Amino acid sequence: MTNCPQEQETLSIVQAGRWPDGCDDAMRAHAAACPTCGDIVRVGSLIAADYHASLRTSHVPASGVVWWRMQRRARQEAIRTASRVITVVQAIAVAAGVAVAIGILAATSRAFSFGAGDVSKAVLAQWSIPLIIALASWLMLAPVAVYLAVSKD
Ligand SMILES: [Zn+2]
Repeated sequence: MTNCPQEQETLSIVQAGRWPDGCDDAMRAHAAACPTCGDIVRVGSLIAADYHASLRTSHVPASGVVWWRMQRRARQEAIRTASRVITVVQAIAVAAGVAVAIGILAATSRAFSFGAGDVSKAVLAQWSIPLIIALASWLMLAPVAVYLAVSKD
């Protein structure tokens, strides 16, 4: 595939938006005769015209506004990350509370069952129902806390 030796020069003129007024008559005559440079002029001038038109119509914000938006976005991401960590720690604290409640319940029931033989079944039944209700509420709250921790992100 043979390329024209003036291809780069024609391309740079077209890219700069200087075609056809910014070049001499010899270049225009060459582009009319050379198929490679003719293609460059036909296609490249359309692309360059679109590029320069979009440069004129594009609205680039001021650098201070861009900096302020970046700072605000970084601050919001830091807040989001910190709140996610706090939520995870709260879920862990709730799970630890559930574990402590289970431990207390186990220790209490063991004290009742292995205690003196005069502990009646009625006393055990009287204390076991509130403990079971407290344990059930903790066990129901732990998945809710985990759900809230996971659904925040
Ligand atoms: Zn050429």
